[in-house]
Amino acid sequence: MRDIVAAVNDPELPSITIAELGILRDVRMDGETVVVSITPTYSGCPAMGVIAEDIAAALRAHSYESRIETVLSPAWTTDWMSESAKQKLREEGVAPPGDAICPQCSSDDIRIVSEFGSVACQALHACVSCGEPFPYFKTLR
Ligand SMILES: [Zn+2]
Repeated sequence: MRDIVAAVNDPELPSITIAELGILRDVRMDGETVVVSITPTYSGCPAMGVIAEDIAAALRAHSYESRIETVLSPAWTTDWMSESAKQKLREEGVAPPGDAICPQCSSDDIRIVSEFGSVACQALHACVSCGEPFPYFKTLR
């Protein structure tokens, strides 16, 4: 049952599961209902509503009723993101939190283009060495 929930992907990062992202806190039974606790990443991240729906849909597919609880404390930080998630980000050309290098050429000569990238959790940086812009997953502590 936890495996079903853990395999749900982040809608903004489809190759990364919510377990790898570190937002899945707890899965337990309350009578016949599966209670899933998740901690939002960035406050106001619109993906959280989608994630809750995806969890409910995944459990429904296995005939489980579910309830999603949001746990705000302790707050999620990018330290909760697993190494496998960071590696997948790099493979997709996204610089994971803490990586201040270009995912294309590994140069550390980078500049911030915009604090707001195509999705809320990412900023747009550009590499001075190779000229490539790339999304940077913002560090949060
Ligand atoms: Zn570069």
